[in-house]
Amino acid sequence: MKELKNLVAGEWRGSARTWDKISPFSGHVVARVHEAEKQMIDDAVAAGRAAAFGEWGTMPMRARVAIIRDFAQKLSARVDDLVEADMADTGRSRWQASTFDGKRATGLFEKYCELALTLENRSNNFEGEGGFQGVWLTQRRPKGVIACIAPWNVPLLMMSLKLAPALVMGNAAIAKPSEETPSSTTILAEVIAASEVPDGAFSLLHGFGRDSTGAWITEHPGVDAITFTGEPATGAAIMRTAATGLREVSMELGGKNPALVFEDVDMERAIEGGMRSAFFNTGQICFCTERVYVHRSRYDEYVDRMVGVADSIVMGEPERSGFSIGPLVSHSHREKVKSLVDTVVPEGGEILAGGRIPEFGDERDKGAFYCPTVAVGLDSDATMMREETFGPVMHVAPFDDEDEAIALANNSRYGLGAVIWSQNVARCLSLPPKLRVGHVWVNSWQIRDLSSPLAGVGISGVGEQFGVRSLEFCSQPQTITIRL
Ligand code: NAD
Repeated sequence: MKELKNLVAGEWRGSARTWDKISPFSGHVVARVHEAEKQMIDDAVAAGRAAAFGEWGTMPMRARVAIIRDFAQKLSARVDDLVEADMADTGRSRWQASTFDGKRATGLFEKYCELALTLENRSNNFEGEGGFQGVWLTQRRPKGVIACIAPWNVPLLMMSLKLAPALVMGNAAIAKPSEETPSSTTILAEVIAASEVPDGAFSLLHGFGRDSTGAWITEHPGVDAITFTGEPATGAAIMRTAATGLREVSMELGGKNPALVFEDVDMERAIEGGMRSAFFNTGQICFCTERVYVHRSRYDEYVDRMVGVADSIVMGEPERSGFSIGPLVSHSHREKVKSLVDTVVPEGGEILAGGRIPEFGDERDKGAFYCPTVAVGLDSDATMMREETFGPVMHVAPFDDEDEAIALANNSRYGLGAVIWSQNVARCLSLPPKLRVGHVWVNSWQIRDLSSPLAGVGISGVGEQFGVRSLEFCSQPQTITIRL
């Protein structure tokens, strides 16, 4: 059995407390994972502070970038192992683990190296009040120890989006992967341990959230900033913790994302794109569409076609290339999805596709599969219209005009993403400012340059992430003024 341990200041450390990571595909044990002990967190933070405020944090950017580039190349060479690890933890297909997580994640380190080299330090001359001349210059310094707390849905990519900016700016990063997906980050840690990145600059600590590693890391006074992706309720708990010591937080949280389908839509594209946006990764992407609003004139056509598409989606064929779906990440997550779908009929809605656990007649029946689901007929205040399902579940409702469509789309505490399906260019350009979300896609979904900024509205996020914004979050401007 694989044993996944903690990496603390260059040393692999086991723990008396372990748990078994279960495959959501077959119910088999994937690995035994060692939950970090409090002492390991103290040691990781102490080593991290020494690195960030010592040689690692003060070396010239080019020297640090050279070390990270070398690590990134070594990580890319392990991409097949990373894909296997992701497949084992999540049950997703090889094609998806490779294209959506593995290659994108390993490429991110190079992307952040390039970006960091373009960051400019500022300087200026000035005349002081006493008539003297001065000059000031501002440089960005590392913040110190950055806690990187990631979710399970795209494990390596989400973690790399935090680690790459933190490390390139000279911080020490403490990686806390989700308890559901410990494997790929452990491989990343093996590669870092064998690289020139100094021991103290990176630690990997496994464990859970509350009363466990996640809470202990974020509570630690030696942690200078926290970057977190996960549920809004967890984000709120972490913000309360971060208030002690006034530590900065950066958060990407959930979504209950709408799509608007107008009468002038290219229906072929909207169905294909709508299918991917709702069911890709079994609906476990923060940007997945969960609420679709269709102009009444095209509503029946959209619903009929989407039901046909949902019923024909292939499930649980990991070696199949192209679109298919795997299980949900765990049985407990399936229980959450199922319990939300189970509210549909009692609250006045109707389920037209899915709404059930599939039966395969083989080992997959021990997995956490759930059928792609299309529901209709719910009011805006119904439970499933308010709560994020984070599963393969779409609700479709009609609208009569643009104002109503916008009002329906904005009727949510979340504000992460939205999609507009329309061939009217003026409409596609005039609608986004009316939508209270951080990212709008037009006639597409999830095509993304990972250095473009993202800021969730409402309970979907705190602060701006990605690209230069992440480099800024992971650093601290320091101004030096000299009297000439
Ligand atoms: P989660 O909030 O349950 O857990 C996320 C991480 O936080 C895990 O590593 C967990 O162990 C840790 N954690 C839990 N409680 C903690 C605590 N009290 N203190 C410190 N750490 C704690 O989220 P999840 O179920 O892993 O992920 C799914 C959620 O993530 C969904 O809501 C989804 O929308 C969101 N998400 C958002 C984005 C985005 O870009 N906005 C991207 C991916 C996922």
